[in-house]
Amino acid sequence: MSLPQFKLLRPRALEEALALLAKHAGSPAATRVVAGGTDLIPSMRQKLFEPEYVLDIRNVGGLKDIRQTDSGVEIGALASLTAIEQSALLRRRYPVLTEAAATIASPLLRNMGTIGGNICLDTRCLWYNQSLTWRKGCGFCIKKDGDLCHVAPGGTKCWAAFSGDTPPALLCLAAEVEIASAAGTRRMPLSAFYTGEGDAYRKLRQDELLTRIFLPESSADYRGVYRKLRVRGSIDYPLAGVAVVMKRSDGHIADARLAITAVNPAPLLVKGAGELLAGKRLDEALAAAVGDLAAKMARPLTTSALTPEYRREMIRVFTKRAVLAAAEN
Ligand SMILES: Cc1cc2nc3c(=O)[nH]c(=O)nc-3n(C[C@H](O)[C@H](O)[C@H](O)COP(=O)(O)OP(=O)(O)OC[C@H]3O[C@@H](n4cnc5c(N)ncnc54)[C@H](O)[C@@H]3O)c2cc1C
Repeated sequence: MSLPQFKLLRPRALEEALALLAKHAGSPAATRVVAGGTDLIPSMRQKLFEPEYVLDIRNVGGLKDIRQTDSGVEIGALASLTAIEQSALLRRRYPVLTEAAATIASPLLRNMGTIGGNICLDTRCLWYNQSLTWRKGCGFCIKKDGDLCHVAPGGTKCWAAFSGDTPPALLCLAAEVEIASAAGTRRMPLSAFYTGEGDAYRKLRQDELLTRIFLPESSADYRGVYRKLRVRGSIDYPLAGVAVVMKRSDGHIADARLAITAVNPAPLLVKGAGELLAGKRLDEALAAAVGDLAAKMARPLTTSALTPEYRREMIRVFTKRAVLAAAEN
């Protein structure tokens, strides 16, 4: 599958990148941002995007660093997934993030792929991530060029699943993201970045870039794990994913956070998990109850290889195992 024609813009400074975005952010098809390109380029080959301009931000300076600040750790959006995985600082202070990053795709793709691209990752569906010919043969779908949802016929909502691995870990760590445009910067909790819709899945305007991720100092005491369901042991996107972090005190759980991915149009913090676990001594029954809570929040449909029932069940099982493993950690 060939790439569509486009004009390549290669800024070297953030101000230049933002000015170019502002200049070309006319119609929705006008400009696409590319960082590592591991998701965007295959999608362009499938003609999911045929932008007039591609803004390659790889050479923009100052957005690759991972550094300790007074209030926590700041990560540039262009930090590669390998840099996240191998960062001694993150491994020591926020190990659930390095563990989640290490499960993504393959070493080569982690060298290319960035944390910003992972957060901004397009939602996925069996009816969407296909060639133009394939999609045309099926009458297209609500996410691209059509008005029918093949996985929930009769509905008006797009159920394509958000399938990134680092966002559930980042949600557990109460991460915030910095969004920049020529008009200035804004900062928001990552939990507010996603819309919950499969089509317009993120709150990012055409003229905006995600520039930095902030991990608060208060989350550095939390230890946790990430568990992921996939067909093959490597290279595959998650079909269900669970991140759990905990803070322990005197043999009890002082606080806990849980987030799921790949089973909804957005990665989600599981509400009530912290309340269920806080102040308790963990046993199998309590871990199973947390698994039930997580499974209730999962709304998988036939958007990927395995059945929705299996994926929801795996959220239950993986949550229970992850909670028990996090308590051991
Ligand atoms: C075979 C294969 C397997 C994969 N397996 C996994 C997996 O297991 N888990 C997983 O999470 N991902 C997986 N991926 C997807 C991808 O490799 C990663 O999600 C990666 O982190 C994407 O980052 P990138 O820099 O390459 O993004 P790009 O492809 O450059 O961009 C992805 C999207 O984000 C936007 N974007 C990128 N950076 C910014 C920014 N700073 N500001 C605003 N918008 C931005 C782009 O416009 C695009 O919409 C896989 C990909 C392939 C090809």
